[in-house]
Amino acid sequence: MKPADKIKIPAQIMPTLDPGFRKHTFDEVPVGYGEDSAILEAWRCLNCKNPPCVKDCPVNIDIPKVMALTAERRFVEALQVIRHDNSLPAVCGRVCPQESQCQKNCTMGKVNSPVSIGNIERFLADNFSNELPRPEIDSSSGKKIAIAGSGPGGLSCAYQSALYGHKVTVFEALHEPGGVLAYGIPAFRLPRKIVAEEIKILKQYGVEFRMNTIIGKTISVDEILDEFDALYIGTGAGVPFFPEIPGEDLPGVYSANEYLTRANLMHAGKLWSKTPISVGKTTIVVGGGNVAMDAARTALRLGSERVIVAYRRLEADMPVRREELVHAREEGIETMFLISPVEIVEGDNGRAKSTIFKKMRAENDPEGGRSRIFETDETVEIDSEVVIFATGTSPNPTLTSNCKELELNKKGCIVVNPATCATNIPRVYAGGDAVSGASTVILAMANGKTAANAINEMLKKPDGQR
Ligand code: FAD
Ligand code: SF4
Repeated sequence: MKPADKIKIPAQIMPTLDPGFRKHTFDEVPVGYGEDSAILEAWRCLNCKNPPCVKDCPVNIDIPKVMALTAERRFVEALQVIRHDNSLPAVCGRVCPQESQCQKNCTMGKVNSPVSIGNIERFLADNFSNELPRPEIDSSSGKKIAIAGSGPGGLSCAYQSALYGHKVTVFEALHEPGGVLAYGIPAFRLPRKIVAEEIKILKQYGVEFRMNTIIGKTISVDEILDEFDALYIGTGAGVPFFPEIPGEDLPGVYSANEYLTRANLMHAGKLWSKTPISVGKTTIVVGGGNVAMDAARTALRLGSERVIVAYRRLEADMPVRREELVHAREEGIETMFLISPVEIVEGDNGRAKSTIFKKMRAENDPEGGRSRIFETDETVEIDSEVVIFATGTSPNPTLTSNCKELELNKKGCIVVNPATCATNIPRVYAGGDAVSGASTVILAMANGKTAANAINEMLKKPDGQR
């Protein structure tokens, strides 16, 4: 088909559940492409000679090849191309910020909307994963690898290391594996069965999961290094920032991490839950990223009548994926801009009653950057029995404080050689949010794979040094 004809193919819309229905359930919002839509969408790809999509994909998937195979209905082969570079396509097809990565500079986007690469990735992973031939595992190396944390970085390191024939043990502090994929991102964006399926495959490859085990507390780093040949640290960035304002310790005030963990992992929405969360008539979520939007949409589903996302900058500055913002607004989530909380007011019952915000003012940056934000003297008070802070996180220090020699930067992130993910301690590697600070699933996975390759090379050396 000629490019001029491809341009005329309408972009395929992702069907979604009706907002009025879905805001009362945790069912996944986008329904997924059917076969016809996936094929038509793949036909839109221009098979560019120097494809920007490949360059902009953090793991450099051969996207034009995936599109060409999909257009020819060779779905299993298309999925195989993706799996070569990405071990979690069903996850990444759903949560990767494609609009700022592979789809950002898509050539089709210059004349029509960009090719929906993520939607096709999800279609292939959802429908053809069971038909993929299993990759061959190298014969047993006799080497043992420990992984701290079962987030996407740890899982990707575990998968690659298992393929190399190493015995892998994943240590996880929580009672369920998956990291943020399990405790953070709600099921209406990432159904639990997808993460569970990935864990099942890893177990079939011989990966062992030891839950409720905190490296640095339950077991020390020295004990791990005595027992294992290498350690990969993928402990994420789960410690929340609070703005340090009066009233932030009142009942009814949460960090988004706590709120989402209670809702996602501890059945907090159910009356019988041992760890319930307050459902405010009005919930205010402070922040402007994916985490804020996930917390807001969860609060709505748990029964809050009015949910407001309050952001101190302008809408254009919000780091949230646009698709999530659109979905949230369709469900009735309100947004308020240029306000920053200064106090949470206590009610007669000793709980949060309202939030006082300082109004901000924005000015264009003469150098063309993000608008400049200034405080004003004006304030506004909004009723809010529940306040959720989604204002950023930093790496958890439990493991690193048990390993004083480990080099950290000023923000508490582990310092690594980016080419290998090796830390300053021999046989210890690290990646994902514990190294970069809060980032993305795909970058954590890329780090996990880099580390697995480097560990494998290190283990081949006679002295086992990096
Ligand atoms: P994590 O996923 O954070 O996993 C770390 C694991 O280590 C956790 O399970 C933790 O319990 C465990 N752990 C910590 N300390 C120890 C210890 N001492 N011993 C044993 N285990 C330990 N990214 C996207 O790309 N798209 C999105 O849409 C998106 N939405 C997000 C929504 C939310 C609510 C959140 C919180 C994050 C979101 N992110 C998103 C970011 C993304 O999830 C993270 O960048 C990614 O999960 C980081 O992966 P990781 O493997 O480094 O660590
Ligand atoms: Fe296809 Fe867009 Fe990639 Fe070009 S940039 S190869 S049109 S997906």
